[in-house]
Amino acid sequence: MTNTASTLFINGAWEPAASGAVREIRNPADGQLVATVSEAGREDAERAIAAARTAFDSGVWASVPAPERGDFLLKVAAGLRERREEFARAESLDTGKRLVESRLDMDDIAACFDYFGKLAGQQAGRMVDAGDPAVVSRIVHEPVGVCGMITPWNYPLLQAAWKIAPALAAGCTFVLKPAELTPSTAILTMQLLQDLGLPDGVANLVTGTGAEAGAPLSEHPDVDLVSFTGGLVTGRVVAAAAAGTVKKVALELGGKNPNVVFADADFDAAVDNALNAAFVHSGQVCSAGARLVVEESIAERFVDELVRRAEGIRLGGPFDEAAETGPLISAAHREKVDNYVRRGVQEGARLRCGGAAPEGAEYDDGFYYLPTVLDRVERGMSVVVDEAFGPVVTVETFRTEDEAVATANDTVYGLAGAVWTQDAGKAQRVAGRLRHGTVWINDFHPYLPQAEWGGFGQSGVGRELGPTGLAEYQEAKHIYQNTSPQVTGWFADHGKES
Ligand code: NAD
Repeated sequence: MTNTASTLFINGAWEPAASGAVREIRNPADGQLVATVSEAGREDAERAIAAARTAFDSGVWASVPAPERGDFLLKVAAGLRERREEFARAESLDTGKRLVESRLDMDDIAACFDYFGKLAGQQAGRMVDAGDPAVVSRIVHEPVGVCGMITPWNYPLLQAAWKIAPALAAGCTFVLKPAELTPSTAILTMQLLQDLGLPDGVANLVTGTGAEAGAPLSEHPDVDLVSFTGGLVTGRVVAAAAAGTVKKVALELGGKNPNVVFADADFDAAVDNALNAAFVHSGQVCSAGARLVVEESIAERFVDELVRRAEGIRLGGPFDEAAETGPLISAAHREKVDNYVRRGVQEGARLRCGGAAPEGAEYDDGFYYLPTVLDRVERGMSVVVDEAFGPVVTVETFRTEDEAVATANDTVYGLAGAVWTQDAGKAQRVAGRLRHGTVWINDFHPYLPQAEWGGFGQSGVGRELGPTGLAEYQEAKHIYQNTSPQVTGWFADHGKES
């Protein structure tokens, strides 16, 4: 399919794909056409990389003093706040996410730009004592260079912001490749950066598939760092491709996150948060609490109540104010989720609720799936091991603290987890033993821009947000200057007559 869409942003200009190919973006809640965007190929991605390389090497952004780069990010944050509703609607149309959630995402995105804007201005190097008064030795932080950024569809602009803000703060240039299903807010963001006067070539955008537009970002020798957020399988492909040129690699991958509930937890709060953990955004959240790990003595009562409330969750499109959660992103994704549930049941799990698309004409054109609870699962089942990334929670039980910890840590992932108990000592002990990058005690899902985010195990490499998030986009350089060079006398100078 071809038409005149020009959504590639390369070297400060809006362009169509060289092939003329386009993609229709449709709202997963009702199938309505949202936008038609350019479908970039390799050649487009390579042009974007060349623009980012030239801009970086010219020093047009890296040489701007860090506090001024920080001021620019603060203006981006202000611009996002001004246009909050427009961005939030675009995000909801692409993802099917409730508008109220997209608005919260926009607040988080603006806060992220604010955070890195302020951090950029505060950064200082450090002196190193060389033990010699004639030597000046210091550590400075320099931008890594050209960054390739590849992002998923569940939090499209939030995940991009976590990369764009620190990269710009550090003085890098970049090429962003958003998920092919959800490019709209990335396009709006490039327009905002352009309106605010970011020099040409510093920010570049290619809309298109991972195989075509994304792969060059992890392969090309002119890209210094690739930062990827997405699934584990794709993350492995990106890491392997990046190895060819020994790029810096940052990976934020999936999770199979345990939500551990002890018998002494605040029952009502724990049930309520277990629903939020598993079903917000229909479970399409990297940190979703998809594994409920509950103490055996309360398991029956807890799961009965969870099921009762899960059955009452109202599904609906992004602008339906009564809806509590929305559709899945695509037909293919819904089928994947459903397959995990079916396989689990075949392997012996008990389906307590959900396990199907909802009935009703209002759901016919969207990719809805009912909140699903599976109990009597075994640890080896694929629905317990793999990230289904849908509204599906499995229930495992334990008798002792050791067993709770062992169950919660029995995953190749390690992104996030929670522990629910009113025993302060037990809360700290268990939190300390969970091998997950974020551990909540008596809560689920909150995060702070000033606190690092990232996974243990195969959930990732590197951290985003926090001061470490900025450091990912910098090279620490030790500068050692001897201001009084001397002949060392270590080697005899055989060319010189004595
Ligand atoms: P995905 O891995 O299918 O795709 C992610 C991105 O990679 C997309 O832009 C895609 O086009 C691109 N891609 C695909 N193949 C590629 C290739 N060969 N080379 C380069 N790029 C390629 O993931 P998804 O389905 O879009 O997103 C869901 C996943 O993202 C889940 O696993 C979720 O846990 C994860 N996620 C993780 C975090 C985190 O912070 N750890 C946050 C959000 C989402």
